[in-house]
Parts: sequence; C-alpha cells; structure tokens
Amino acid sequence: MAASSSLRPNHHTSPLSTPHRQQLQSSLSRAIPCSLSFQSHNSGSVSLRYLRCRVESGRVPLRVSASSVTQVMDQAPSRASSGVPTVVEVDLGDRSYPIYIGSGLLDQPDLLQRHIHGKRVLVVTNTTIAPLYLDKVIDALTVGNPNVSVESVILPDGEQYKNMDTLMKVFDKAIESRLDRRCTFVALGGGVIGDMCGYAAASFLRGVNFIQIPTTVMAQVDSSVGGKTGINHRLGKNLIGAFYQPQCVLIDTDTLNTLPERELASGFAEVIKYGLIRDADFFEWQEKNMHALMARDPKALAYAIKHSCENKAEVVSLDEKESGLRATLNLGHTFGHAIETGCGYGQWLHGEAVAAGTVMAVDMSYRLGWIDDSIVKRVQKILEQAKLPIAPPEIMTIGMFNSVMAVDKKVADGLLRLILLKGPLGSCVFTGDYDRKALDETLHAFCKS
Ligand code: NAD
Repeated sequence: MAASSSLRPNHHTSPLSTPHRQQLQSSLSRAIPCSLSFQSHNSGSVSLRYLRCRVESGRVPLRVSASSVTQVMDQAPSRASSGVPTVVEVDLGDRSYPIYIGSGLLDQPDLLQRHIHGKRVLVVTNTTIAPLYLDKVIDALTVGNPNVSVESVILPDGEQYKNMDTLMKVFDKAIESRLDRRCTFVALGGGVIGDMCGYAAASFLRGVNFIQIPTTVMAQVDSSVGGKTGINHRLGKNLIGAFYQPQCVLIDTDTLNTLPERELASGFAEVIKYGLIRDADFFEWQEKNMHALMARDPKALAYAIKHSCENKAEVVSLDEKESGLRATLNLGHTFGHAIETGCGYGQWLHGEAVAAGTVMAVDMSYRLGWIDDSIVKRVQKILEQAKLPIAPPEIMTIGMFNSVMAVDKKVADGLLRLILLKGPLGSCVFTGDYDRKALDETLHAFCKS
C-alpha cells in the first residue's frame, strides 16, 4: 500500500522546522519501520514517502487489540456483529486514547464507565438523536454505577445551529447544574454535536473531560477522531474552535441502522478521501465494495470505519495541530466549505459539499499536469456510485468561491494553500505553490458566472 505526501516549506507551504522534522522523522521511524524514505533537500524542504505495513498483529503506533486481528482487503472483520470491539489507538503521548469500534457497544457499560472522571456527566445531543439513543446512553453510564448522575442538554438539529447561540445552551445547562471541573461531557450524535460538545468541553471551566459517541458515518470515520472542535461563523465554516482531544471514542455501528440514506452517503465522501490522499489499496477496496457500503452491509461498514479511523489516527498522531501533514485530510474541503457557506449552512450536507469539492480539486490537479486522467475518471465514478454530487450547485459563482476561500483557515500570508493530488493514486500535496491560472480555469469550468 503506497501513500505519499510531499511538504515543501517555503512561504507558500507550511514550514517544517528542524526539530519538527526530526520529531516527525522519529515518529515515522517508530510508526512505519518496514519502509521509509525521508529526504531532506538543500532548501530545507522535506518530502516523505512511505509504505504503510499491513502487519497481522497491528501497526505501531496504532494498537489493534489482540482479539481483533486485522483482515485484509475484501474480507471484512468477521466479528462485525460479535460485540467484541476493535480498538484503534490514537497515539498522542499522555493524551492518547482508544477508539472502540463494534456492534452493540452501547450495551457494554464498562467501555464508557472506565473513561468517566468524577461523578457528574453532561450528555450533549439533539432533538433527532435523543429519542433514539439518549436513554440507552444514560443506562450505559449509570448501570451498576449509582455514584454517577447524568444531565442532558438537547440542542436543535442542524448545521445551521452549529453556532455561538447554541453553544451557550450547553454552558447554560452546565452552569445551572453546577457542574465542576471533575465532570465529563459526552457528545452523542453526528459531527455537528461532536464539534460543538468538544468545543464546549474545551472551554467550560477552561477544559473538562469529554467522550465522543458518534452516530453518523461522517462522525465515525472522521469528525470524532483527532480533537478538532468548533463552531461556524456566518462568514465561514469552523472558523472558531480549539484542538481538544476526547478521553475515548465509542463507535457503536448499530446506530447507523437509523441513519437516513442521504446522511449515510455523505459520510462516504470522507472515506473516499482517505483512499485518494494516502491509501490506494483502501481506495481500490472501496471501488469493489461501494455497493455493499451503500447497502449497509455490516461487515463492509465495519471494515471501512476501521480503516478510516486507522488512517485518521495515524495522521493525527504525526501532526496533531496541523502544521502540515494533517492538512492533507482537507482534500476538497476548501471548495466544499465555500459551497456550504455560499448555499447556507445545512442546504448541502458536509459530505456532499466535500464530494463536489473533491472533484474540483482533482480537476485542478489534472489541469496542473500532476495526475493522469484515469484518476479523474475513477474519482467521478466512485462518487457517483455513492450517490454523491460531482459538481457544485448552480447558484455558486466564481465570485462566491473566491470570497469564501479568501477566509479559509489554510490561507497563509494572503496565499490560498490547497490539497491537490500529485503522482500515483494515494499521493497528494498541501501547497500554495501552484499556477493560479489552473484554479481560475477550474472555477470557470464548474461555475456559470
Ligand atoms: P450532523 O451532525 O448534522 O448529522 C447528520 C444528521 O443525521 C442530523 O440530522 C442528525 O441529527 C442525524 N443523525 C445523526 N445520527 C443519527 C442516527 N444514528 N440515526 C438517525 N439520525 C441521525 O452531520 P454529520 O455529517 O455527522 O457531520 C457534519 C459536521 O461534522 C460538519 O459540521 C463538519 O464541519 C463536521 N466535521 C468535523 C470534522 C472534525 O475533524 N472535527 C471532520 C469532518 C466533519
């Protein structure tokens, strides 16, 4: 399985200082002992290219529990419905934490209870998820554990509520309930709830413990892992937030049974992303198994979730605060965030906007001559199989893209840096060093005005 990223520090790209480079090199050597080449160029630039090993007993630093031997390619883990969790570790020193993945995990109280600090818990959820799973989660937190008391706050549902007003409702509840620094916040829901609850936990009393219980594909494969928390501003997505890691992530794959089809598909945009930026084998597996994923085949879903979490955990472990490598997880997101902001939050789902944004990023990569057209076709095909859009909505104009992208978090010194594919499948770059003409041509190709 080949994956490569090339990071060229100059004023256009994120710099890697010598200590950081050494740290990255040392982490990589620990993480991927089987094959690694690391080149340091005269300019101080660094490119890294590595093969991820498939080792039956799991990779370092990702710990896959002994009870959950990794199976390869078309075979999905047979214990998808066994109730024994697969464990993927996010390796961040003393802030490391496990991601538990499996069926029926909400019926295993110990998994949650071992990560509760103190006696008070606040579950943050929304009006859709509360009737489905709140009682179950309260049971899991309290059964055999009478010392713990649980409060809950039920927020309005939707991306349009991922803002300061809604965040205040969490603080209102926490303060009215007289929660103290020993409390634990639990995010029960999709990415919107996870991002908001995480940010509330990061700032309430300057930081309290929190746990993620993600219930969408999007949240299970991406947003619950890695500690990016935050809210939207009316001028741009996720512009206000903090890096703040949870105590654990508990993924009960049974929760996907109630997820609407459109939301299911939305999450696959991020699964596809991992394949494109760093895991060609995983992309090829998806090409063969997208029908099974869309049909909610439990084994296929378990396989995709586990591999996505492994990819995310590996990147986050190497670059927690996004000084370079982690930015590659944002393939298609700069265009996608412009679509979400331009259309009005909640009109296009996050994954739908990312899908269209991915097609635009791939189109631009091709115009730059960085990839061949077979990749362009394969990306379109897999997104169509996942019933995801392959172009932005017609209301998006070039002007709208340009004005929203100008406030993107990846702008540095006024220069827009993008994640673009470069080289064979599974390779990308994060760079501001591209011909601006290609970006203009892509915008003209996808917008009517
Ligand atoms: P979402 O949280 O809005 O959930 C989608 C919808 O599904 C909602 O209506 C929700 O109530 C409902 N739902 C959730 N779980 C359900 C279930 N099991 N059964 C039935 N309905 C259910 O959207 P999302 O796609 O999960 O997340 C999108 C958000 O995640 C965006 O705000 C995006 O910016 C953020 N995100 C963050 C990161 C990160 O690293 N922090 C990464 C990717 C996305």
